Amino acid sequence: MSKTVRMRGISASPGIAIGPARVVDREKIKIPRMRITGADAKDEIDRLMEAVTESRTQLEAARDMLSKSSNGGLSSSNRLSHDDHSLILEAHLMMLRDDSFIRGATDLIAGDLINAEWALARKMNEIKDMLANLGDAYFQERAQDVDFVGVRILRNLLGHVTAIVDESGIPCVVFADNLSPAETSQMVGATVLGFCTEAGTRTSHTAIMAQALGIPAVVGVENVSERVNAGDTVIIDGNDGVVIIRPDVKTVDDYRVRAQHHAELEKKLLSTRDEPAVTRDGVRFSLYSNIEFPAEAAMALDYGAEGIGLYRTEFLYLDRPSFPDEEEQFRVYRTVVEAMAPRPVVFRTFDLGADKVSSNVSQHEINPALGLRAIRLGLKNRSMFKTQLRALLRAAAFGDLRIMFPMISGVGELRQVKSLLAEARRELGAEAPEQVRVGCMIELPSAVFVADRLAEEVDFFSIGTNDLIQYSLAIDRGNDHVAYLYTPFHPAVLRAVWMTVKAGRAAGIGVSMCGGMASEPLLTPLLVGMGIETLSMAPTSIPTIKAMIRTISQAEAQKVTREALDLATAVEIEDLIRRHVGDKLNFDV
Ligand code: PEP
Ligand code: MG
Repeated sequence: MSKTVRMRGISASPGIAIGPARVVDREKIKIPRMRITGADAKDEIDRLMEAVTESRTQLEAARDMLSKSSNGGLSSSNRLSHDDHSLILEAHLMMLRDDSFIRGATDLIAGDLINAEWALARKMNEIKDMLANLGDAYFQERAQDVDFVGVRILRNLLGHVTAIVDESGIPCVVFADNLSPAETSQMVGATVLGFCTEAGTRTSHTAIMAQALGIPAVVGVENVSERVNAGDTVIIDGNDGVVIIRPDVKTVDDYRVRAQHHAELEKKLLSTRDEPAVTRDGVRFSLYSNIEFPAEAAMALDYGAEGIGLYRTEFLYLDRPSFPDEEEQFRVYRTVVEAMAPRPVVFRTFDLGADKVSSNVSQHEINPALGLRAIRLGLKNRSMFKTQLRALLRAAAFGDLRIMFPMISGVGELRQVKSLLAEARRELGAEAPEQVRVGCMIELPSAVFVADRLAEEVDFFSIGTNDLIQYSLAIDRGNDHVAYLYTPFHPAVLRAVWMTVKAGRAAGIGVSMCGGMASEPLLTPLLVGMGIETLSMAPTSIPTIKAMIRTISQAEAQKVTREALDLATAVEIEDLIRRHVGDKLNFDV
């Protein structure tokens, strides 16, 4: 037997899979390049359109299979997530209708007199280059979508399509260079134990799908396809982002025990769904959920969320040819509020820009994270912003809807957005409810410095630690070259959080946290110690954080927090917390 190979990647979806490898070997497509005559142009366009139709049929079939399997006895959280996957497939279907793409290719056939494959490949490259030149992670992922859809059409033109799932029905672990969301959806109800890809990031659509389908996955494992052979025994450890090819018997046994432990832990954590997040000395915390898609509201409830602490509404604006109008937004917002009623839902106004950019407002920026993002974009496109505010105010009549503004840098800016909100309210007249709570995110260092003043103008704060860390430590949150510097344990970050909490408390307003720090169990003692009463996170993190809260006492957490705030380095702070609560991280108490 060949040597064991152990490789590291990005853990995209938790869980452990052990089984034989299925290597999806997609030989590189060779694109035939031919000049044609004017008389042949119509035939070439017809060929292209036929391949587009075939691609559409395949994508629709994948979408239908998804919805069929969602009615077939999967857990309700999985079922709801399928709606999100359908949305992704819908976005790919929409690309097939996109004029700039398909029409662009047919124009090339007729104008430059070239064959269909060549025209399509040229158009794909043109769009991908354009997206790559915009130079940020979000666009790179959209370029991947162009690839997924374009390669599917090319394969149909050339007559070779590769199935991801083995028809034999033998359970297997899939290895591929990359998987599109449509390909991942083929795994629903199939015998795929887990998967590993060379490409991908934690936030790619494929990773989101894997999490929702509950399939362990590791992505971003460079050259893995060259190291694995079909039929090799492999282990995918989605918890730690590790892939082991051809493990020895002892390692397999060890991972079987770990897999069993993981499954038991999941079950145990979920069983606390209806129990309160209360510390040993009786202090009650509220665990809310962050969502990106309306269907996730039900998933949040499945995991015991007491409300939605962050609805990232910008996802409604992405992957579509035009922005949603007021009516569409109103309907979506109302659905979410009603699904969660009587629990609160915090709607963050669109945070477009930086890594989340819609083609409808794209512009070239050298430093997009410091550019026209979130409310800056809203204040520049006031009518688009007001459309959202009107839709939100109208939906507020149907439940506990709260409005939150992202990327607030100071009081002047906050007043501007509030006056736009007041304008929207005046326009709506009696249709807008009298009382809607308004809050702002604290995610810029400048907002921390003036938090006392901001607190006088809003009903609540929510600390966005993902950006607060990015901007405080000057580390691009999407750049893996500087990821080693990105740490929530940095004393500056903890001081910023503490300053915000104190300012909010002095003004008597609510302070919550909706950034990634809220879902890091090792930080829970500090957040409990600081008394951040509401923590909002991905639904699947709620049981773990609840378990952590239930194992500690606030009095003890306050002591640790005081000590931590006195330390000088991230390492010292992390060590201190581990010394105090490291043993509690297995939640066996
Ligand atoms: C944050 O910045 O912490 C946050 C919650 O918002 P987002 O991750 O959407 O920027
Ligand atoms: Mg943010």
